[in-house]
Amino acid sequence: MGRIGVDLYPLTTGVPLAEADTFGKFLGGSPANVAVAAARLGRRVALISRTGADPFGAYLRAELREFGVDGRWVAEVADHPTPITFCEIFPPDRFPLYFYRLPKAPDLEIAAEELDLEAIRGARVFWMTGTGLSEEPSRTATLAALEARAKSGTTVFDLDWRPTLWREKPGAHYERALALATVAVGNAEECEIATGESEPYAAARALLAAGVELAVVKRGPEGVLAVHRDGTVAEVPPVPVRVVNGLGAGDAFGGALCHGLLAGWDLAAVMRYANAAGAIVASRLACASAMPVRDEVEEVLGRAGGV
Ligand code: ADP
Repeated sequence: MGRIGVDLYPLTTGVPLAEADTFGKFLGGSPANVAVAAARLGRRVALISRTGADPFGAYLRAELREFGVDGRWVAEVADHPTPITFCEIFPPDRFPLYFYRLPKAPDLEIAAEELDLEAIRGARVFWMTGTGLSEEPSRTATLAALEARAKSGTTVFDLDWRPTLWREKPGAHYERALALATVAVGNAEECEIATGESEPYAAARALLAAGVELAVVKRGPEGVLAVHRDGTVAEVPPVPVRVVNGLGAGDAFGGALCHGLLAGWDLAAVMRYANAAGAIVASRLACASAMPVRDEVEEVLGRAGGV
């Protein structure tokens, strides 16, 4: 549940936006990418979001269909253009994003009374993001969905911190969502916003204390740390890759995390799998269309020393 938009990425890496003149058009928005990533791995996935009533909205619906994501809960909102995001690609570690979501993104117009709570309760995994908490009515709707889950199955809070999309401090809203989720996922900066801690072990402990059962700290080129409330710890080193575009790695990781949790693998196996999926997308230019299928993840895991 959350945002969807059109990503316009320069087709030449290392070129500032001011000088770029050819762009590729891709489906984007973190939770939409996570949905695509899980679908690519063979899972049955639906997205709850909104687009504008415009050609880019039609493009996104067609893309969801193409990727095998059920778009029945991706309605159009009149008078709110479908958001566009540009990025600059400066490998290996600088990928600034420029969001065009004004006057307001349609995905922030999801209202609680429009939710299909039965479907939300019935999903084995429910995934939402911090950006969905940034404004009303999306905030109330996102919290209503979490409340409807009542911690059943796997309920993931992707901390997904996008400071430019917030007009107030996120603290209290993040706290509420953490108390209602079973899994929290974030990078160091996102963990710091949610808990005040950025050191991976301290952040994981703080996320567990805030209410989740599993804390996953994504560490970019340093791999990942996961700590379960039962005391299980999985720390996985990165799969070495030549980074082309780090954007989308976290979403590939997220889709693979859902896949692994649904498969019931042990924590270390889930983390190795998600870590490999993240590395694969970091080595590719695109995001959604770069999400790996199972054979590709298994091939990388095979090279890295097995599942
Ligand atoms: P986000 O994009 O959400 O900040 P990260 O950049 O931490 O997320 O990427 C998510 C995961 O993808 C990492 O935890 C790691 O497993 C993998 N990953 C990301 N970047 C790299 C990289 N340069 N090399 C190897 N693995 C990577």
